[in-house]
Amino acid sequence: MDAKAAAKEKTLATKDNLIALSHRIHANPELGFEERRASAWLCEMLADAGFTVTAGVCDLPTAFVARAGSGPLHIGICAEYDSLPQIGHACGHNMIAAMAVGAAIAAAKIADDAGITVSVLGTPAEEVGDGGGKILMLERGGFEGIHAAMMVHPSPLDVLDMNSTAITTFDVHYTGKETHAAFAPELGINALDALTIAQTAIGLLRQHIHQTDRIHGIITHGGDAPNVVPAHTSARFMVRAKTLADLGEIRDKVFRCFEAGALATGAKLEIVGGSKPYAELHHDPRISALYGRNAESLGRKFLTIPAGTSGGASTDMGNVSLAIPSIHPAIGINSMPAVNHQPEFTAHCIKPEADAAVIDGALAMAWTVIDIASDAALRAQLIKV
Ligand SMILES: [Zn+2]
Ligand SMILES: [Zn+2]
Repeated sequence: MDAKAAAKEKTLATKDNLIALSHRIHANPELGFEERRASAWLCEMLADAGFTVTAGVCDLPTAFVARAGSGPLHIGICAEYDSLPQIGHACGHNMIAAMAVGAAIAAAKIADDAGITVSVLGTPAEEVGDGGGKILMLERGGFEGIHAAMMVHPSPLDVLDMNSTAITTFDVHYTGKETHAAFAPELGINALDALTIAQTAIGLLRQHIHQTDRIHGIITHGGDAPNVVPAHTSARFMVRAKTLADLGEIRDKVFRCFEAGALATGAKLEIVGGSKPYAELHHDPRISALYGRNAESLGRKFLTIPAGTSGGASTDMGNVSLAIPSIHPAIGINSMPAVNHQPEFTAHCIKPEADAAVIDGALAMAWTVIDIASDAALRAQLIKV
């Protein structure tokens, strides 16, 4: 039996357990850096499959590395397993986790024959938007020695080289002065007015930004009582641009909108966080072409999105892709009109089409690992980098 047939046989033999894993994570959503059960389930399944598992790597309790094989070419498969507040696995990270485990177990079967080492990198907290798990793991040596990295992300439709922009996420705090809102309003400094002015300025700024820029946020504290002038308000905002290099300019403009709120009201402004932005995603064209062919051979049809026409989402896999040749294709679960980050998408992430995508994504990745391993020129290029 050739390597790809062996990988397929292994994936089909693991199918029920992979789907059960995906459903179990979906039924037990955990927020970023709190994914204790999900990371433990992944570690357990990989240990049972013969992987050497190290949990809690890089000083992150819910990060892990699971390794199999000992060949010179080292391929990393990233697993995400964090959910979103209130709407659970509306980004389908339950599927990402199961696909990563499935691909690694299938690839591990042929690892030594193919001269590769396969690692699953358990990367927590992708949804946080600042200092995501992959960024912290990159900083702390968690990706050391990996020659190529990959993961597959659920999406309404299949997209091979999905757009993914840079993003910075930060908190804004205004401090004013309380007073009786009716009896002595002239004594107050209204921290909620500061946020209102900032949001108005941001609304006007949106006329003058690039098509791929995005500015969006929520008020996390708007005051305590309508008859007390709010002295403390806060918001969390995200700013996106096409690249990390472009992000500074739009971020500075947004910061000035928040300064305008402070200037107009006299409230004190503090901006916290935003020091570890996510980079735009660079798809390695060689590995992407291999994945594309493998996914197409499983019946997947990729949607073509003209470059520059969509802002796209963002991921800390972007930072990995700047450091290591990487791919991050989207796998379709036929959820339209439901899209990621809607509760309707959450419901789709355990439907039969999602389960089929888990198996296709796992197998397409395992086959891509095999293709990389058996391409002497690509191997040499990757190992040398
Ligand atoms: Zn998401
Ligand atoms: Zn996601």
